[in-house]
Amino acid sequence: PATTSDPDCVFCSILAGKIPSAAVRESERIYAFRDIAPQAAVHVLVIPRTHEYANAGEIASGDPELAAELLREAAAVAKGEGLAEGGYRIVLNTGHHAGQTVYHVHAHVLGGEPLGRFGA
Ligand code: 5GP
Ligand code: ZN
Repeated sequence: PATTSDPDCVFCSILAGKIPSAAVRESERIYAFRDIAPQAAVHVLVIPRTHEYANAGEIASGDPELAAELLREAAAVAKGEGLAEGGYRIVLNTGHHAGQTVYHVHAHVLGGEPLGRFGA
């Protein structure tokens, strides 16, 4: 599938360089950067460069290889940030009740300290 972009999407604006971001990891189809409002000692967002998929279910159905790459990159970010030993959490919020605010699929990588069981 082709790469799409939405001018009203904050993550597409980050990908286009219109909003600055602190890069953590980059590949051809994936970009990882620090969350602007960190909820843990380490909080990185991992996104595909395409706007095509709003959430985990959509990307898994629409481009399974890209979905797998998103998870591989999230794990690589965790390793690179020194989280592999102590452990970390990958979060993929979907929809209103989960508090999803950006409808461009993104994996949160959280760690660097003990995390609460599930809440923020
Ligand atoms: P969601 O709640 O949709 O799962 O997560 C969206 C995340 O994007 C939030 O954790 C929020 O802090 C982060 N975020 C929103 N706007 C920006 C921004 O302009 N820059 C960065 N680095 N993160 C952002
Ligand atoms: Zn987008």
